[in-house]
Amino acid sequence: MYNDSFKLNITDYLLRKQNFTTRIDAIINYLHNNTNCKALELAAYFNDFSTTACGICDNCINKKLIPLSATLFTEISDAIFALKSMENITLNYLHAKLFAYNKNHLTEVLNYLQKEEKVKIDRAGNIIF
Ligand SMILES: [Zn+2]
Repeated sequence: MYNDSFKLNITDYLLRKQNFTTRIDAIINYLHNNTNCKALELAAYFNDFSTTACGICDNCINKKLIPLSATLFTEISDAIFALKSMENITLNYLHAKLFAYNKNHLTEVLNYLQKEEKVKIDRAGNIIF
């Protein structure tokens, strides 16, 4: 008697199943990700794109250990220029803000950008774009 009166909303069921599959896929991708910062990935999942790399997850630590590649160079360079809109950027601030990157890598990129005259660093440590 109860079985006859039970109606399954198939549209709702399929939508719930799809949402579940999407969430599980996101978790699987998160766990298999071995390049991007885990904190950034998590923040992006919740549509927060304002977070900076954590510097302490396994992916961030691995990034600090690897030699400076062309891809990493570009990534660091982009991160530096992302700060361009802010006023009064100092070398200390830049190191604090981009602490997720190896300090030697940052210095290497900054030296290159100075040689190419894309960035200037004055005696007080102010970065001028
Ligand atoms: Zn991280």
